[in-house]
Amino acid sequence: MPIIVQKYGGTSVGGTKRIRNVARRIVAAENDGNEVVAVVSAMGNSTDDLLKMAHEISADPPERELDMLLSTGERVSVALLAMAIHELGSTAISLSGNQAGIQTNTVHTKARITGIETRRLIEELESGKIVLVAGFQGVSPEEDVTTLGRGGSDTTAVALAAALAARECEIYTDVDGVYSADPRIVPGARKLDEISYGEMLEMAATGAAVLMLRSVEYAQKYGVPLHVRSSFSDKPGTWVRKEDEDMEKAVVSAVTHKTDESKLTLLRVPDRPGVAATVFGALAEQNVNVDMIIQNVSEQGTTDISFTVNQPDLPAAQKALDAISGDMGVAYLIGEQMGKVSIIGAGMKSYPGVAAKMFRTLADAGINIEMISTSSIKVSCVIERAKVEQAVKVLHAAFNLGQTG
Ligand code: ASP
Ligand code: MG
Repeated sequence: MPIIVQKYGGTSVGGTKRIRNVARRIVAAENDGNEVVAVVSAMGNSTDDLLKMAHEISADPPERELDMLLSTGERVSVALLAMAIHELGSTAISLSGNQAGIQTNTVHTKARITGIETRRLIEELESGKIVLVAGFQGVSPEEDVTTLGRGGSDTTAVALAAALAARECEIYTDVDGVYSADPRIVPGARKLDEISYGEMLEMAATGAAVLMLRSVEYAQKYGVPLHVRSSFSDKPGTWVRKEDEDMEKAVVSAVTHKTDESKLTLLRVPDRPGVAATVFGALAEQNVNVDMIIQNVSEQGTTDISFTVNQPDLPAAQKALDAISGDMGVAYLIGEQMGKVSIIGAGMKSYPGVAAKMFRTLADAGINIEMISTSSIKVSCVIERAKVEQAVKVLHAAFNLGQTG
């Protein structure tokens, strides 16, 4: 029997009625002749609620304990879901990440999956059970509970699909699929039928919240086809898969945005070998993900280096810079209210002038570009946070990404 892995996000299991709805879908997939593994997120906003309680108690809670706390949200969901499936007359077993054999490193709150011991999963499937796995968590070599970072249940699902050689991984969410822009900002945004891993990676990295970035990396690495679709309808969603000849290669497929960027500028850094290595080494040590980096032309032996980080990483970034800036004798500036807009498209590779059109469109709207970065299928601009929505709208219109017909 083919194995399919399904993942249900927090909204899809946001109450007991919704959990019963999910149970029906899972049983239907089983009745269609599949062996089903379902990964679930915590109910509704419960991860946020748990985090809030932690921060009411401590400004800087120990990360090991945060992981113990946050991992409970997903356990609540799987246990209730198992009960709902039993009510429907099927057999299911719920497993924590640890019980499901999900091994991670020890970076608490942002752990990476290092391997999956599938023995238990396979045994349970072979005994005819539906296997429900608490998303977003694993176990470290020290046998402590770890979590995989916000949105981590996607990664749990894809990693399980890869380890079990599943036919596909269905990601059930509260939207119909991946859109050409956030439909809350652009009402005429179009649902994409399929996109390549490369495009989805760029989209996830530049703000599309439908899938966690790492889950897409995983899917690409192991060639797991993803189907992102709604848990509230039977409509097909968006397939994320390997780019091939038949795939329509739009010059621009989507506009994405982020509103939680912060920009840091190191002033008059000595322009000699090893400086960038020291700065970004210190940031890496604090587990800060650096996004864009720009180094200016050197003047009188010094240069300015600007880079962006996610706002939540700002305190850690400041800690890293404070530790080294004294020694290097440099000061830094912080620009907190930044955002980013990006255009993504696999067809961009072979079309000149796409970036120019983006810059022209932003200029015509009076939006100033502070930083630019590109890849072969993406152009991103850092802009003032207050201008992000307007930028998304004008770019979506300029590249004609809306509904056709
Ligand atoms: N519950 C976790 C979160 O809210 C993980 C997930 O939903 O994937 O980030
Ligand atoms: Mg979630």
